[in-house]
Amino acid sequence: MPDLSNPTETLALLHKYNITTRKRYGQNFLINRHSLDKILNIAAIDENDCVLEIGPGIGTLTRELAKRAAKVIAVEIDCSLIPVLQETLAEYDNVVVINEDILKASLTDMVNTHRSDNNLKIVANLPYYITTPFIMMILESGISFSTMTVMVQKEVAARITSTPGSKSYGALSLAVQYHAAQHIVATVSPTCFIPRPKVDSAIVHMVKHSTPPVSTTSEEKLFTIIRAAFNQRRKTLVNALAGGAPTLKREAIIEALQTMYLDESIRGEALTLPQFAELTTLLYPNIE
Ligand code: SAM
Repeated sequence: MPDLSNPTETLALLHKYNITTRKRYGQNFLINRHSLDKILNIAAIDENDCVLEIGPGIGTLTRELAKRAAKVIAVEIDCSLIPVLQETLAEYDNVVVINEDILKASLTDMVNTHRSDNNLKIVANLPYYITTPFIMMILESGISFSTMTVMVQKEVAARITSTPGSKSYGALSLAVQYHAAQHIVATVSPTCFIPRPKVDSAIVHMVKHSTPPVSTTSEEKLFTIIRAAFNQRRKTLVNALAGGAPTLKREAIIEALQTMYLDESIRGEALTLPQFAELTTLLYPNIE
């Protein structure tokens, strides 16, 4: 069996199946053992885990996951890679490969069909074009999982982990913070992939909270407010919310900010998650 973290053997396998990597599917195959080990160490997969892997590619990460997990659900959009996966995963009977677009798949059904009573962990070297929608989809799906370990573009890793005052702070940072504790494990150079991406990457590890770190009257309204605040991030929070969350009156927003001892010229990018939660409760006091 080829060593898929070895560039020569990876190229030989791609050649054997006449595969040219597809940019539109974000195909940058990992060829670096050190980065692979970093993902595996932090994900800490064991025999009680079911792993959902997005984009197995030629199976580099999948094989390592299969060695450790009870079950691996690997979802790959590109049908030309399925025969390659049949070869590289042949010795593992605990892997199910699903040829689908993860963004269109019925995630809950897929996971419930295969996970048994195993703990779910999500692990992926993500195609960069789906990073934000995929992470949001998982967080909003209500699916129960313990950790998510993903390779993403370095800039996106900064958005996921940033705090108020930073340029990269935004709706993604707050959504991840609400659902999980997160940190950047390592940055990964373009030389670790075939073909080389134009940007640096980073491994991000998220541990899901058992309960959100803040409470508010409505999670839905909390995210309506956060989205409105960052849709027009150059505006003051009052203007962004009065224009972006139509049922809210300007006077009510100003009054809520005063109650919180915040200046009415403040922008959304200066507010922490607890402050957004408090603002939501003040603006929507009567929602269960
Ligand atoms: N896991 C492999 C590795 O580490 O070498 C491949 C990672 S590559 C960055 C991303 C993979 O995701 C590719 O195999 C690509 O075909 C697949 N992919 C892209 N878009 C997808 C989607 N919407 N749903 C499922 N898989 C997708």
